[in-house]
Amino acid sequence: MDSIWINAPAKINIGLDVLRRREDGYHEVKMIMQSIRLFDRLTLKKSETPGIHLSSNLHFLPTNENNLVYQSAKLLRDEFGIDEGLDIFLDKRIPVAAGMAGGSTDAASCMLAMNELYDLGLNKRQLMKRGVTLGADIPYCILKGTALSEGIGEKLSTIPKMPDCYILIAKPRIHVSTKFVYTNLVLDENSPHPDIDAMILAMKNRDLNDLCARLGNILETVTIPAHPEIDVIKQCMIEHGALGSLMSGSGPTVFGVFDDPDKAAFAKEKCRELPFKCFVFTTDLYR
Ligand code: ATP
Repeated sequence: MDSIWINAPAKINIGLDVLRRREDGYHEVKMIMQSIRLFDRLTLKKSETPGIHLSSNLHFLPTNENNLVYQSAKLLRDEFGIDEGLDIFLDKRIPVAAGMAGGSTDAASCMLAMNELYDLGLNKRQLMKRGVTLGADIPYCILKGTALSEGIGEKLSTIPKMPDCYILIAKPRIHVSTKFVYTNLVLDENSPHPDIDAMILAMKNRDLNDLCARLGNILETVTIPAHPEIDVIKQCMIEHGALGSLMSGSGPTVFGVFDDPDKAAFAKEKCRELPFKCFVFTTDLYR
């Protein structure tokens, strides 16, 4: 095999709670992760020219060791002594710095693809152990689907699958710094912690209405006051038929959950009419 391509799915957080700030500065989280059918595509080709050559359709993305794809390829090449050249093309579709784990899913997919291309014989657990050294979300992006993520994001367990539904994504053109959000997060007795266990039970009962009534992301308490557009998008989705709507990760992406694709398509048009620019996209879950 001389080349391989792979789709790297985006994730959304159906629920995101921060339990506490640890002494080492990291935050202990409890999050429900869900892959959706919005993909970046990576194409890997063996090459005569030594080294890793990464290119992308997005000119502003780093293509050197600052890109997680480069780092993940280097990690496996160093460990397995792979010297021959490797060309990687990253076709980016997932909005960058959006709270959809774009970089992490690219790195995860690069490792999965290299495992095939070079016949490395690693299983998912072994890939996840290596991936976590580059980023806490990478093990989940190797696993994909519906999962509970705890610790600093690296402790993963499988949970009942999310009931079938349609997802509307809207990302306003604003930049949110994840560091700013976590630094300004206040955790006290008034913090609106989502009930993640009740959400998992709703998934087990395949009760989409109950699940959507419980959607919660504690990071909204920081990002929404700083960027009120996020709440405007949420209200727009709810007014136009979403069963629930939530910010993903530290933002600014908002998603809406629908039980009907036509309602999702209509709400998409309504989000397009908002007085600020948004990337909007309708899709469904990636199992
Ligand atoms: P998360 O949901 O994990 O917080 P995110 O979706 O908010 O991630 P990314 O899209 O991963 O954020 O990008 C964050 C930063 O990482 C970008 O500013 C970018 O320069 C850098 N980066 C490194 N590698 C990649 C990659 N393959 N794709 C996108 N960004 C990357």
